[in-house]
Amino acid sequence: MIKSLVRRKIFEPFFVHKNRSIKLKYWRELERTQYLPEEVLMQKQWERVNEILRFAYNKNSFYKDRFDKVGIKPEDIKTKDDFMKLPVLTKEEIRQNTQAMISKGFDTKSLLKFKTGGSTGKSLELYITEECSEMRNACARRHDRWAGWEVGEPIGAIWGNPVLPKDLKSKLRDRLLQPFIFLDTMQVSDKAVIAFAKQWRKTKPTLLFGHAHSIFILAEYIKKLDISDIRPRGIISSSMMLLPHERAVIEAVFGIKVTDRYGCEEVSLIASQCEMHEGMHINIEHLYVEFLKEDGTYTKSGEQGKIIVTDLMNRAMPFIRYQVEDIGVPVNRKCSCGRGLPLTEKIVGRVADFLIKSDGAKVAGISLIENTLTKIPGIKQMQIVQKEIDEIILNIVPDSNFTTENESKLINYFKELFGSDIILRLRKIPEIKPETNGKYRFSKCGINSFGNINYGIN
Ligand SMILES: [Zn+2]
Repeated sequence: MIKSLVRRKIFEPFFVHKNRSIKLKYWRELERTQYLPEEVLMQKQWERVNEILRFAYNKNSFYKDRFDKVGIKPEDIKTKDDFMKLPVLTKEEIRQNTQAMISKGFDTKSLLKFKTGGSTGKSLELYITEECSEMRNACARRHDRWAGWEVGEPIGAIWGNPVLPKDLKSKLRDRLLQPFIFLDTMQVSDKAVIAFAKQWRKTKPTLLFGHAHSIFILAEYIKKLDISDIRPRGIISSSMMLLPHERAVIEAVFGIKVTDRYGCEEVSLIASQCEMHEGMHINIEHLYVEFLKEDGTYTKSGEQGKIIVTDLMNRAMPFIRYQVEDIGVPVNRKCSCGRGLPLTEKIVGRVADFLIKSDGAKVAGISLIENTLTKIPGIKQMQIVQKEIDEIILNIVPDSNFTTENESKLINYFKELFGSDIILRLRKIPEIKPETNGKYRFSKCGINSFGNINYGIN
């Protein structure tokens, strides 16, 4: 597309120069490093780990205290087992120490400040430098291209609470650099989807971007309304909760594969599928990612583990051994694309999406929903909420096939799994609404588990 080419070759370098942005430089570097051998990337990553540890020890009193408490210094950390001696950083600790976590020489007034959505009930305040933000954007760009999108091409996003450009200047800049169209997940209706399709015809995005379930909802509307011209070249699903039957609907409606991506607001992009869809490549140029079993030791290839990330870029407010509260599965195999970035399997779910049986065993909410929806007819959507060990709320959106017989099947299925003493509260509701951050959650567990962290429910 000529317009995209002009945006890429002329407008972007102009604005980049004006803003003294380093995004382009980082992006080009990331395009190169992705094909380096894994050993070379890991070596570089380890050097960066050591750099951030030394920096944090010398310039950040919060981390200096943490080193001192366990009696080690950065130079003592020579292996990944040494690294493990540093304590894991929880959301609660961040919330209580936000200001103390700012490194010497940084002033919060000159940093970019943002608040996380708090979908697990804990909203965090974060600070990064503009440079760090640009590095994150550069990385997102590399991974957007893996889905088949090219720089300068318009993007269609389906998102909750979209941040739209406010003043005229930024509107103009957005238009020249990166045209976006939005469908707000908070207000999806026939009318909104028809309007979105109209915008799509005009703007012609090549990438559809959004939360997994939101893309599914859009696909359902497109099918119902018989809209034929929303045809992206790539689809990026940024949430881990893509149910298999939802993926099947999306891929059938759009005729292409979904590219899975995983990240969080605190450290940005963590892992992403490439064009081969053989697993998610971990963003090891920016992050050091660990997978821990419940006993605190490292998982082996193919085993589920809690995801712990260390941000190698953010010096203003370092994140060292941060527990994201998600569960993933690292794997040793290589992707056939030839990139040296290691792989993780799909993200199994959030820690808070696992339900807990009375014997302490954990059940992945996503599997439970998938089993129920495929086995019991008449349920359009379902959400499982567990606030107490002996009580589960089932929010369901029934359709006309939901008979009393199906209702008993549903109850029996849960009783068999969770024991006959479980109190089940079935609520029939017209729709399951997204959380305040625009994401949908299908299972929520508020019980204290996975160590000593209490996962709140909002
Ligand atoms: Zn690959």
